[in-house]
Amino acid sequence: MDQRTVVGVGNIYAAESLFRAGIHPLRPAGAISLARYRRLGDAIKAILGHAIERGGTTLRDFLAPDGAPGYFEQELWVYGREGESCRACGRALRSARIGQRASVWCPGCQR
Ligand SMILES: [Zn+2]
Repeated sequence: MDQRTVVGVGNIYAAESLFRAGIHPLRPAGAISLARYRRLGDAIKAILGHAIERGGTTLRDFLAPDGAPGYFEQELWVYGREGESCRACGRALRSARIGQRASVWCPGCQR
């Protein structure tokens, strides 16, 4: 996903939102249907809303001092779980660098 598409969403939020919306991070923005864009928008709102509710308003708040995900560790579906099995379908999660970001996704759930 191009960073310009969703400005200001941190790596964790981006990976988790794409997972919830079922969108593969390498899919070109122009090849995403309007319905899926709406799902992505809803997923981002839900995740950011949840993060703010729980006090993790910034990426720094979101991470433990050692850099590991803190607040939402048990709630993360893909971020920081590359190589582990997907909680939804059991496939091994994959990762790649996309632009400046390291992205993690499920090859089964995200297309
Ligand atoms: Zn999956």
